[in-house]
Amino acid sequence: MRGARVRLAMTYLAIIMLMSIGFSVVFYHTSYNQIGRQLPPRSLYQRALIPDDFRPGVEDFIQQRISEARNDLLVRLVWVNLIVLVAGGALSYILAKHTLRPIEEAMEAQSQFVSDASHELRTPLTAIKTSNEVALRKPKLTLTEAKEIISQNTDDITKLQSLTEALLSLAQNGRHPAPSASISVQSVVSEALSQVVSAAQSKKLKIDDKSPNLAVLADQASLVQVIVNLLDNAIKYSEPNKTISIDGGQQDHHGYISITDQGVGVSDADLPHIFKRFYRTDRSRSKEKQNGYGLGLAIADQLIRQHGGEITAESIEGGGSRFTIFLPLASV
Ligand code: ADP
Repeated sequence: MRGARVRLAMTYLAIIMLMSIGFSVVFYHTSYNQIGRQLPPRSLYQRALIPDDFRPGVEDFIQQRISEARNDLLVRLVWVNLIVLVAGGALSYILAKHTLRPIEEAMEAQSQFVSDASHELRTPLTAIKTSNEVALRKPKLTLTEAKEIISQNTDDITKLQSLTEALLSLAQNGRHPAPSASISVQSVVSEALSQVVSAAQSKKLKIDDKSPNLAVLADQASLVQVIVNLLDNAIKYSEPNKTISIDGGQQDHHGYISITDQGVGVSDADLPHIFKRFYRTDRSRSKEKQNGYGLGLAIADQLIRQHGGEITAESIEGGGSRFTIFLPLASV
């Protein structure tokens, strides 16, 4: 990146120098002619204002002053251009640094994303490889053992599948913003609920759906995906027998949908980071070993932003969380 910065700075400097030298040439040329006009015109001698005897001396003197003035001008212009070269060089470098900063940041984020994604992909791949190698080294493999290995591998393959789907979703959503149409919040919520109801039931969680009778501008499939992600988290991070509530309303020109749980909550230190790609709190990484890659909220945030909306999170550690989606209201 340093090389690119220097090259861009050189281009800026070349433009500055081209302008400065061009201006100096025109200025020198014009001044050269103007200085030459100092020689007294013939009429002055004819009217005997300057005696004839003085004429050669006066002319030599003036010629000498003219060439001195021209040399002086040339030296000054060279100095000015040298100063422009040095100051322009410094300015160009600062400008190039400023211009390239957003590109550098985007590249850094991209390479961080690739390395995080590779790291997450490597873990299940290594697990599959290791269990297969161990099985191959065994002289005899019973049917039960083989089935156990296949089942472990299938679990890891399912993880890989969900990770690649999440990665693909992030990449595709970033490229093609979803088309918006007027959609009913209640229908979107009930479609999302149908996808998570069995997970909630198996954890004995109650879902209290008080979604508002509103129409918002969004893409149905994208909004379903966002609500599924939020409900999924509410289920994952809640203890059994708790309640998850869905409600909403309107505020200014936006409709909002809130999903509130009574789960483990997020600490104040983690809260500002949970929408970042691959961010998982220590609790979800280690203690309870929840499935996930820290991509669900990043995908939700990306989708909602693409619809001109916003998603916010409030949470108390140990006291539950509330995620709210704001979307432009559809004119009824
Ligand atoms: P993950 O796949 O880890 O759930 P997300 O992007 O959906 O990834 O969430 C990022 C992190 O935010 C999670 O690892 C978890 O620590 C925290 N989080 C998200 N939703 C909740 C919730 N409802 N309650 C508690 N913590 C949550």
